[in-house]
Amino acid sequence: MLLDPNRYDPAHFDPETRRLLRATIDWFEARGKQRLVRDYHEKVFYQDFLDFAAAEGLFATFLTPARDAGPNADKRWDTARIAALSEVLAFYGLNYWYPWQVTVLGLGPVWQSENAAARQRAAEALDAGGVGAFGLSEKEHGADIYASDMVLTPDGSGGYTATGGKYYIGNGNCATTVSVFGRVDGVEGPDQYVFFYADSTHPNYHVVKNVVPSQMYVAEFRLRDYPVRAEDILHTGEAAFSAALNTVNIGKFNLCFGGIGLTTHALYEAITHAHNRILYGNPVTDFPHVRRQFVDACARLTGMRLFSDRAVDYFRSANPEDRRYLLFNPITKMKVTTEAEAVLALIGDIVAAKGFEADNYLPLAKMDVNGLPKLEGTVAVNLALIGKFMPAYLFQPQAYPRVGTRTDPADDEFLFRQGPARGLGKVRFHDWREVYARHAHLPNVALFTEQANAFVELLSTAAPDAAQQGDMDFTLTLGELFTLIVYGQLILEQAEILGVDSHLVGAVFDVLVRDFSRHAVELHGKRSSTPAQQQWAVSALRKPVTDAAAFDAVWRQVLALSGAYEMKP
Ligand SMILES: Cc1cc2nc3c(=O)[nH]c(=O)nc-3n(C[C@H](O)[C@H](O)[C@H](O)COP(=O)(O)OP(=O)(O)OC[C@H]3O[C@@H](n4cnc5c(N)ncnc54)[C@H](O)[C@@H]3O)c2cc1C
Repeated sequence: MLLDPNRYDPAHFDPETRRLLRATIDWFEARGKQRLVRDYHEKVFYQDFLDFAAAEGLFATFLTPARDAGPNADKRWDTARIAALSEVLAFYGLNYWYPWQVTVLGLGPVWQSENAAARQRAAEALDAGGVGAFGLSEKEHGADIYASDMVLTPDGSGGYTATGGKYYIGNGNCATTVSVFGRVDGVEGPDQYVFFYADSTHPNYHVVKNVVPSQMYVAEFRLRDYPVRAEDILHTGEAAFSAALNTVNIGKFNLCFGGIGLTTHALYEAITHAHNRILYGNPVTDFPHVRRQFVDACARLTGMRLFSDRAVDYFRSANPEDRRYLLFNPITKMKVTTEAEAVLALIGDIVAAKGFEADNYLPLAKMDVNGLPKLEGTVAVNLALIGKFMPAYLFQPQAYPRVGTRTDPADDEFLFRQGPARGLGKVRFHDWREVYARHAHLPNVALFTEQANAFVELLSTAAPDAAQQGDMDFTLTLGELFTLIVYGQLILEQAEILGVDSHLVGAVFDVLVRDFSRHAVELHGKRSSTPAQQQWAVSALRKPVTDAAAFDAVWRQVLALSGAYEMKP
C-alpha cells in the first residue's frame, strides 16, 4: 500500500497519466537527494521544478477540466490522479507539493465560473506552463473572509479598479492565474463580494515579499489601481463567497495525500536507519518500545491511506443528491494530517539525532508536517464543520446505491458546480453500523464498535446542555470522538475492498481504541463535564485486545521496508 518509487506503476491509470507520474518520480530521483535537501536548507526557489512541470504539461494535463480541454483527450479533472500526484510530490517534500496545491486553489474559482473567456485564458496560461494562485487571505483578517480590504471601485465604464493587499498567497510571486477575492466599494451585504482574475506580471500588481522563510514563495502582494475589466470578473455576490468555500473544499482534499507522501518517505528512511544501527551489539529495532512505535506508525499510516483512498470514491461520486463528501473531506483534512504529525512524532522519537541531520529527508518531513493541519482551515475550523454532520450521521442513516472504487478516467465536473455551501445538516449518510458489524469478528473492531455505540448513548443520555453546546472547547472534544467513528468506517470499507490482512486492520483498530479512550479522558477533564458525562467517559475506556501474533505480523511488514527504498544520491 506504500508508494515505492522503485516499483511505482499505477496500472489503474491510463498511459499518459502513468507516464506523467513516472516522469515526475524520475525527475526527482535523477536530480537526487543531495540537491533536494541542499535546496531545502538554502531556501532555493523551485524554479527548476516549475520548468519541468511546464515542459511536461503536467499541471495543464492534470488540472484542466474536460470542458476547457479542447481536443486534448488526456486533460480532465480526475481526483484519483490528482491525489496520486499530490502524494508523489509530497513524497519529495512539501515544497514541491505546495506550488501544485495553490495552483489547484487558484484554478478553483475560474473553473467554477460561467465566464468562458476567463476559463479559456486560464487553460491557455496553464498550457504555456503557468501556475495559479488563490488570493483569499489578508494580513489582518485570517479565517474571517467576510472582512476584506481588497476594494474594487467602479471605473464608470463597466469595469473596476482594485486596490488592496493579500497575504500568505502561494505562487503570488509568479502566477499568471491569480484568483483574487475582494469587495465592491459602497455595496453592503452579500452583493459586495467579487472574485476576479489577475496576473502577477501586470505592472499594477506588486509583490511585496515572501512572508515565510522557506523555498516556498508565500507572497504578500498589493494591487494598486489594478484594472478589473468585465471579462476578468469570475463571480459576484453570494456566488463569490460560495466559490471561495467550494474551492477550499476541492483544494483541501490534497492535504491528506500530502501527509501520506511525506510520511511514507520518512518511514523508509527511519526503518532503514534504525534497523542498521547497532547499539550494545543489537539493532535498535530490537528494543520493544521501538517496535511498538514502528507498529503504531505503520498502523496510523495504513489508516490514513485506507481512509483517504476510500474518500476519493465518495468525492468523485458526489452529486447534488449525494454530498457525503462534505463530511469525509474535512476528516481527510484535520484527521489524516494530524495523523501524519503523530506518525512523524513516533518516527522522530525513534531516530532521535538522525532526524536533525542536514543530509537526511527526515528533518524536512518533521519540520513541514506541522503546516498540513493548519492550511485550508485549522483543526478547530474543520472539527466545527464535522460536528454539523453528527446528528444525521449517527441517528438518521439512509440507503444509497453502493459507491465502488473510482479510479476510472472520469472528469469530476460536479466539483465545479457544488452549489451554495449551505444545508449541511440535510446531508444524509449510509448506515455506519453495517461495515462495523461485518468486521465484528476482529476483536479490536468489536471493542471500538462498543465505544462507538457508547458515544451514541452519551448523546442520548447525557447530551451536552445549551452552555456546553456553545462552548467550542467542549464540542471540539466531542468532535474528535465522533470523527473516529467515521474514520473507522471508511477504513473498514477500503480494507474490505482491498482484502487487507486482518492483522493489519486489527493493528489500526488497536490504535483507534486507544485514541477513543484518550479523547474520552479529555472529555472527562473538561471544566464543564457533568458527573454523568464523567461517568460515561470512564465507562467508555477500553484496553485493546493484545495479540502477540498479530503484532509480530505487522512488525514483520514494517521490517520488510528496511532498505526497500532509498532516494538516489
Ligand atoms: C504556508 C502558508 C501558506 C498559505 N497559503 C495561502 C494561499 O495560497 N492563499 C490563501 O488565501 N491563504 C493562504 N494561507 C493562509 C491560511 O489559509 C490562513 O492560515 C487561514 O486563512 C487562517 O488564518 P490565520 O492562520 O491567520 O488564523 P486566524 O484566522 O487568525 O485564526 C486564529 C485561531 O482562531 C481559530 N478560528 C478561526 N476561525 C474559527 C472558526 N470559525 N471556528 C473555530 N475556530 C476558529 C483558528 O482555529 C485559530 O486557532 C497560507 C498560510 C500559510 C501559513
